[in-house]
Amino acid sequence: MTPTGVVVSLSYLVASVLFILCLRGLSSPEGARRGLVLGEIGMLIAIVGTLLHKEIVTYEWILGGMFLGSGIGIAISGWIPMTKMPERIAFSHAFGGLATALVGVAEYMREAEHLTSFKMGALGFETFLGFLTFTGSLMAFGKLQGVITGAPVTWRGQNFINIGLFVGAIAAIGVLVFRRDLSQVFFGIAGTGLALGIMAVLPIGGADMPVVISLLNSYAGLAACATGFALGSQVLIISGALDGSSGLLLSMLMSKAMNRSFSNVLFGAFGTALEPGKATGALVAKSYNEATVEDAGAVLKASQSVIFVPGYGMAVSQAQHAVRDLAASLERRGVEVKYAIHPVAGRMPGHMNVLLAEANVDYEKLFDLDDINDDFARTDAVIIVGANDVVNPAAKKDPSSPIYGMPVFNVEQSRSVIVLKRSMNPGFSGVENELFFQPNTMMVLGDAKKTLLSMISELKEGGH
Ligand code: NAP
Repeated sequence: MTPTGVVVSLSYLVASVLFILCLRGLSSPEGARRGLVLGEIGMLIAIVGTLLHKEIVTYEWILGGMFLGSGIGIAISGWIPMTKMPERIAFSHAFGGLATALVGVAEYMREAEHLTSFKMGALGFETFLGFLTFTGSLMAFGKLQGVITGAPVTWRGQNFINIGLFVGAIAAIGVLVFRRDLSQVFFGIAGTGLALGIMAVLPIGGADMPVVISLLNSYAGLAACATGFALGSQVLIISGALDGSSGLLLSMLMSKAMNRSFSNVLFGAFGTALEPGKATGALVAKSYNEATVEDAGAVLKASQSVIFVPGYGMAVSQAQHAVRDLAASLERRGVEVKYAIHPVAGRMPGHMNVLLAEANVDYEKLFDLDDINDDFARTDAVIIVGANDVVNPAAKKDPSSPIYGMPVFNVEQSRSVIVLKRSMNPGFSGVENELFFQPNTMMVLGDAKKTLLSMISELKEGGH
């Protein structure tokens, strides 16, 4: 091996170790920032190592691409709000998939006759999965963004056709291994990947897109891993395998936290019958306890312990700083404050943790479902900030409910429940929430951030 070859191999080894440490760091809020920095350093080392490759003919196009890509990346990160994270991730995956697939096409056109059988198989997988990820992620982006209908689009025999296309593509890759010259077969596989990405995501409801995006992430990882085998690049094999497995694990964890099976997410057309804002059940006509900020303030002044339960509405309202400020004024009054974080609150795993970390809320005050669920019965007041499904008792009591079986917080057991949301509309699952009609629940309707700011003034003004 030449000295440059040794440096390249070493850089790939160091980068791979840093990627593993990055994932380790990301598994806890305390280590997340450090993990990200390690991942970024790893990526830089992998890129520099790749640029030392002796096969590179000219650097001009590479540099142009790097500047263009970095510019777009910086613009996107500044421009897209936190509430649009799933869309942003879908968009990046689309281009990751496209890049992988185009490398596959270029490699086939350049090398087809000299490829070993193993490399031909890897190239086929890479191109198929890369194109599938490209169109699938664009569909997910379109559904979340409302460009394409969020309702599941179903047709007769769709699962049969989709499975048929998948099996057909795998069989075609098998043919290609023996007849590398059959370029029509290669481009047929690429076309099938493009079509399957659209056809597999169309029947899934917009509500399930975060799980789909995470699954497509794992396909992109597998495609990158296959690229690594095709090009003989160890760093791509390792990072692709890490990406593929973590994406799959994340999709499984998200499904589990929603008490949905994987097949139910992928083939269940969840939410078909519901129109946005329409509730299920006949609870709409029931009366509820609409309260003012003053009423809520009076409850808080008489409380010794308070738990905040943030949900998607906190992200929409960007109320995390106001939550922290209200918590601080309660603590100044000697109140014990905790935060209950549900694994699927918001729209992406860790959504609430990231927002509260941005507002400098102490990690030690954040509690997972299992660690805090018994505390509600001993708590004076719960403040629900734009959460809905994660506090819906129907998930525990009503076997006919679509969210039945999803673990939820026992908020109804606390002495008083203060709910901050704008209306009586249901949340993500479209299911009516019985909690809002219970005698110990106060509905303080309005934008969460505005209500929280008024509550802070109310506490300041009112004294004890
Ligand atoms: P949710 O059930 O979607 O409810 C959010 C609530 O926030 C809504 O009822 C809405 O009511 C309120 N809201 C919206 N804007 C607001 C504002 N500006 N001020 C105050 N309130 C506002 O949210 P969740 O309880 O966090 O539950 C998350 C849901 O997402 C679960 O069903 C989960 O299964 C699903 N999901 C999560 C993930 C994940 O990884 N986190 C992935 C896939 C699916 P109004 O419109 O009346 O204000």
